[in-house]
Amino acid sequence: KKRIAVLTSGGDAQGMCAVVRSVVRAGIYLNCEVFGCYEGYSGLVKGGDLLKKLEWGDVRGWLSLGGTLIGTARCMEFKEREGRLLAAKNMILKGIDALVVCGGDGSLTGADLFRSEWPSLVEELIEKNILTKEACENYRNLTIVGLVGSIDNDMSLTDTTIGAFSSLERICEMVDYIDSTAASHSRAFVVEVMGRNCGWLALMAGICCGADYSFLPEIPPNSLTWKDELKEICKRHKEKGRRKTTVIVAEGAIDNELNKITSEEVKDCLVEIGLDTRITTLGHVQRGGTAVAIDRCLSTLQGVEAINAVLENTPTTPSPMIAIQNNRIVRVPLVDAVSKTKYIAQCIKEKKFEEAIKYRDSTFKE
Ligand code: ATP
Repeated sequence: KKRIAVLTSGGDAQGMCAVVRSVVRAGIYLNCEVFGCYEGYSGLVKGGDLLKKLEWGDVRGWLSLGGTLIGTARCMEFKEREGRLLAAKNMILKGIDALVVCGGDGSLTGADLFRSEWPSLVEELIEKNILTKEACENYRNLTIVGLVGSIDNDMSLTDTTIGAFSSLERICEMVDYIDSTAASHSRAFVVEVMGRNCGWLALMAGICCGADYSFLPEIPPNSLTWKDELKEICKRHKEKGRRKTTVIVAEGAIDNELNKITSEEVKDCLVEIGLDTRITTLGHVQRGGTAVAIDRCLSTLQGVEAINAVLENTPTTPSPMIAIQNNRIVRVPLVDAVSKTKYIAQCIKEKKFEEAIKYRDSTFKE
């Protein structure tokens, strides 16, 4: 029987539990054995109890849960070859030669590197007499499949990442709560949302909550004029009868000269036009709570596709990342998705904002 390990890595996201459930059950259904690798890559590096076979019933009730019940971690050892050597040893000892990784671009980069190094890691294990040649005989290639779990929706070549819509839902709920008090007191709220250098959460929160203004890293305002523009827009809305004022600030918000735009600066502008203004940094509630329907669905369908991809893999197939494009679950080369994602970050650093948007999901282009 094919033995497959599944792990969650990097920042947690709603839907990761549903991914593990789907991978375990699709694997069992297709006659494989699936191992849960606990605490991200640490489970591979440390092995033992952290690499545990999961049965159908072990993932019962996991479909809707937030976070990840097999844990996630930032594992520094795995970034070193020595750590990956231990990981290869532990996998071979358990008879595992396929890995489904659910995480962000860092986790998927690590997975692809691990695969490309695998034959030389196996050689090294034999040379150092850590494992015998016979023990390694059937484990000369490693299969890697990536799934994107991230609330930020920051991965290229997929329309959405697992967790992004749940996080957006949390933001909408929180802004709705804030709105009622804002409208009662005619107050202004500056709401800071997550997303790192991706503005998808801020963009969508702006649309879904009817904000007066949103600050996004990919569409930065002019450094010289943004303060006056913000004041003018919020003042105009107020004069037209809007009681509350809501401004969304992405955590990675910048102006077109790459200066960080802080919630404090935004607040100062609103105070200057006479608004009683508060800042709310939503923080980790954005990662919390259950997965919304679309994330349950995405995790389930993509988990099944990950197992199909493992079973259809050949030593020459590039490692796939399971994506969704135009409502279809598809496989794309993992390295392409990761390199385009890194390219976006580079474009932002070089002020090539239009180029950055080209590789973001379609929401930005419309
Ligand atoms: P998020 O988008 O939530 O930050 P991520 O997957 O990008 O998720 P990282 O902290 O970059 O998060 O990576 C998670 C883990 O993946 C690291 O702690 C490390 O174990 C592994 N990893 C990341 N980059 C590499 C790399 N270049 N080589 C080997 N392993 C890596």
